[in-house]
This record gives sequence, structure tokens and C-alpha cells, in this order.
Amino acid sequence: MNEYEIIIGLEIHVQLQTETKIFCGCKNDYEAGPNTNSCPVCLGMPGALPVLNRKAVELACRFILAVGGEINTRSIFARKNYFYPDLPKGYQISQHERPLGKGGVIRIESGEGNSEIMLQGIHLEEDAGKSFHLADSSNIDFNRCGTPLLEIVTMPVIRSAQEAYLFLHRIRQIVQYLEISSGDMEKGALRCDANVSLRREGQHEYGIRTELKNMNSIRGVEKALSYEIERQISLLEQGGFVLQETRLWDESKGRTATMRTKEESPDYRYFPEPDLQPLELSGAWLEDIMQGLPELPHQKIDRFVREYQIPPYDAGVLTSTRQLADYFEETAGLCGKPKQASNWIMTEIMKIMKDAKTAPEELNIPPRNLAELINSIENGTISGKIAKDIVVEMAASGKTPGEIIGARGLEQITDKKVIEQAVEQVLSENAENLKRYFDGQQQLFGYFVGQVMMKTEGKANPHLVNKILKDKLNGR
Ligand code: ADP
Ligand code: MG
Ligand code: ZN
Repeated sequence: MNEYEIIIGLEIHVQLQTETKIFCGCKNDYEAGPNTNSCPVCLGMPGALPVLNRKAVELACRFILAVGGEINTRSIFARKNYFYPDLPKGYQISQHERPLGKGGVIRIESGEGNSEIMLQGIHLEEDAGKSFHLADSSNIDFNRCGTPLLEIVTMPVIRSAQEAYLFLHRIRQIVQYLEISSGDMEKGALRCDANVSLRREGQHEYGIRTELKNMNSIRGVEKALSYEIERQISLLEQGGFVLQETRLWDESKGRTATMRTKEESPDYRYFPEPDLQPLELSGAWLEDIMQGLPELPHQKIDRFVREYQIPPYDAGVLTSTRQLADYFEETAGLCGKPKQASNWIMTEIMKIMKDAKTAPEELNIPPRNLAELINSIENGTISGKIAKDIVVEMAASGKTPGEIIGARGLEQITDKKVIEQAVEQVLSENAENLKRYFDGQQQLFGYFVGQVMMKTEGKANPHLVNKILKDKLNGR
């Protein structure tokens, strides 16, 4: 079989979180009752004039500047003409020849190391409405008409379905960090079309690509690409060729199918939007936006590894959201034990958040309580095992570890005499097992440890239990 190089380029639409739509004063909320947020402008009534929403431009610029792209201080809106029932104007206001931004880089981390995905173009446009097809009727909701979208197009530099997955993850994370979009792909706040082609090793020019649509999760994009790559390989291996076409991903069947071929692809007849002036941005305004940018996920990851000496894997998990990263930093700062803080957050705390569907800032366990818990283990007040029970109670009651330990008498037993007593008791109650142990069943040691822990309600210092038990057994 031939070796193929996989070439992928993504086109992403991000819904911007503005109060109002991009060219009118309608509320930017398309989940309200059907057709409750529409007006002559977004319905495309003759003579109605669009007015650009400053906030939409600001949010778009935040993204472009954050990823190191270049902003055209003079950009042009253009009409993209096509007919669709949910597009009442018969055109979409977009940008074409002089978009708002170009270039920029997104860094992703994979098992094999870091890679950089170059962006091609970034522009602003308005969304269309939504059609609903019921059993005996088709319905249109115009609420989404005029919702601001940021379109981000990558260069064809993504080399696997897995890389596309990581890239989309990072894009979602970045728009959330920048607070410009919810990035929720299931709800359509983030959408992705994927272009994919193959070329034989050593071949210079790109192969024919197909464009995949209709994926509504990041995992869906990965699956659609994997399917499509296999489909193209088997076509080429059988001596066939790939048709340039748009294909729809069918999640339930797990495959793609032709939607339209190149011949049927529309010619949009772009021309400059006559109702809008060219958009001119001042250097000072952009400088202000630049100053307000937060630290990005990849920068946080690098800093966490450097500053807290935690593994890159931990840093990746802890920076998944800004809130979680803040939670970690506060806890680590308060207890002075970053690796322990990381371990606790990545296991118990994340489990509690997942089960209760809460965000870090809503958690009943403020960082100082988690820091106190970590310190209580470190200084021997409680065992790590008991701590896992305590943390559950902390989440339920909002109490501090000290309050819970005090009220329930959970202090770790480090008194050798008390532990010795428990060990003696366990050994005398287990004559049979003891005999087996001395007959060679060494694994029963663990059983004895467990029995001692049970007798002490989990409070005995496990290290001491091990040591004392070993001494007793050797002495017999
Ligand atoms: P179009 O104008 O048809 O939308 P673009 O040049 O805008 O084409 O590219 C759209 C997307 O397709 C970009 O993400 C680009 O990187 C990607 N792309 C272009 N050529 C190929 C190819 N041969 N294989 C895979 N992706 C490609
Ligand atoms: Mg394009
Ligand atoms: Zn409107």
C-alpha cells in the first residue's frame, strides 16, 4: 500500500456573545420564542439600513490580536449573494476581499509534542435564520438572522483527524478564555466545516479535497475526518479518484454522503456592501484591546510547568478553563504544595464538580479549605484515605477540614501503643489466616493491614501499621 500524507484545513464559525445583533438593535438571543427577535433590518425589508455593532468588532479583534494575527485597519464588508428560505435578504453581509484579519497561529499540544497551526483569514459576518421541518410543515425562525459570527479559516496544515480534534478543542478554549463566545458546539455557537485531501508521499501538489459539513461536536469532526480519510485511501488504492464535492456527515450511520459536487457549487457574486462604510479602526482603540487580553491557555500551560514544576499533562488539565486554573493557583499558593494540589484537583475535586455539574467558583470548597486539607495530610493530622471522605463532606456542607475532623474525631492515630494493640487483636482473631501466612501465603499481609485499618476506623497511620505489623509477624 502507498503511504499518504493527510492534508486538512478547517473553516470555523464562532458565534460572538454580543447583547444585540451585528447590524441592528435586536437582541442576540435566538433561543427566545420563534421570530420574537427580528426587525426590518435583519429581515431585509427594502430600505432598511444596517448599522455596525461596535462590540462585535471588538470581540473579533480580541481574537485576532490574541492569536497574533494582523488586523486590517481598513476592512470592507461585502454581500455574499445566495438564495435560501432562511435568508430573507437574499444575501449575507460578510467580508471577502479585505477581511478584518489575516494570519495568526494556534498552538496545540499532543503526545508527540507541540505544533503550530497557521491561520489563513479571519473575518466578520452575519448568520442566517433557521428552518425547522416538521411532519407536515416547514417553519422558519428569523431570530438567528444577523447574529454576529467570526469565521476562522486555517491553512491546509493539519495532518491528522486527531490534530483537528486538538485544534478545535483549543479554539473553543481560547474563545472561552477571551469571553467572546460560549464555544458550545452542540448548541451551534461553534461550527466547523472540514476540508480534507490526500497526497502520496513525495508528491508536491495537493490532491483533490472534499469538504465535510454537518458535524455537531468536536468528536464528530474527528470521526467524520477519520471516515473520510479511509474512504479516500480506499478510492485511490483501487485506482479511482476523489471528486471535489461537499459531503454531509451522518452521525447515526457514521459515514459521509455527497451533498453537492463542484459543478453545483454556488457563485456568490461578492460585491462591496453599499450600505456600510469601510470599517476603519484606530491604533489606540486596538492598543486598548491588546492591553485587555488575558493569558492564553498555551501560555498558562508553559507557566504552570515552569513555575509550579508540575508535569505538562497536569498543566493541560488544570488550564482547561480559566476558573479551574485560578482555583489551582490559589490552592497551590496557599498550601505551597503544587503537585499535591494538582493531584487533588484532577481527581477528587474534578469528580465532585462533574457529579454536581458545578463550576470551580461555585464549589462549596474554596481554595483555602482544600489547601487546609492538603496540609492536614502533610502534617500527619489525617490519613490520605480519610481525607477522601472528608473532601466529600466538605463539598456537601461547605465546612472546613478542621471543623469536620474535630466534630468526627478523625485525627490520624499515630500512637504506637494504640496501633500495636489493634495489630495484636487482629492477629489473635485470625489464627487460621495467620497459619496460612506462615505456610507461605504472603499476600495475606495486605489482609491484616486492612483489618487493622478497619478496627481503627481508617484512622491508623498506614505507614506505622505496616511497620508494626511487619515487626510483630517477624517476631512470631
Ligand atoms: P474556498 O474558497 O473553496 O472555500 P479556501 O481557499 O478558502 O477555499 O479554503 C478553504 C479551506 O480548505 C481552508 O481551510 C484551506 O486550508 C482548505 N484547503 C484548501 N485546499 C485544500 C486541500 N487540497 N486539502 C485540504 N484542505 C484544503
Ligand atoms: Mg472559503
Ligand atoms: Zn433586527
